[in-house]
Amino acid sequence: MGRIPDEAAPCGVFCGACPSYGKSCLGCGSDLKQRRRGKFRCKIRNCCFEDKNLDFCIECTEFPCQLLEKKLKNSHPGEARFKYRHEIYDNLERIKEIGVENWVEEQRNRFKCPKCNGSVTWYVYKCKECEFEYSP
Ligand code: SF4
Ligand code: SF4
Ligand SMILES: [Zn+2]
Repeated sequence: MGRIPDEAAPCGVFCGACPSYGKSCLGCGSDLKQRRRGKFRCKIRNCCFEDKNLDFCIECTEFPCQLLEKKLKNSHPGEARFKYRHEIYDNLERIKEIGVENWVEEQRNRFKCPKCNGSVTWYVYKCKECEFEYSP
C-alpha cells in the first residue's frame, strides 16, 4: 500500500473493479513496481500524490479541475461502459464522509454479482464467474 489503499485512486475511481486489477496493475494506490506503467504517467495521479502531496483530489483547492473534468467526468458522456468515471465526484464525497477504508469495503460489496457473489468489473459490467450482466 502507498499513501492510500491499493484499490482506491486519488481521482475517486475504484481500482478494485478494474479488469487489470491484481493482474498487470496493482491499483493506483500502490507504489510497488508493476507490469503496466500507465498509472505512473497519469497526470492526475502525479498531480495529486506528488505535486500537491494529497491523498485525494477532493482535498485540493482546485477541485474539480479541468484534468478531472476532461479525462474522467466528461469523457464518453452517457456511455454505460464509462460509468465508473462519471461517478468519481460521488465517490470522492463518500470517501470524505465515511473514510477510505470503509469506502473500499463498500465498493467491494457493491461490485459483487447478485447471482453468484462473483466479482464484477467495470467497462464490461459483467460477472467474471457466471457472466451475469450487472451494473451496480
Ligand atoms: S485517472 Fe489516473 S489516478 Fe485515476 S484511476 Fe486512472 S490512472 Fe489512476
Ligand atoms: S489539480 Fe486536479 S488533478 Fe491535481 S490534485 Fe487538484 S483536483 Fe486533483
Ligand atoms: Zn455471477
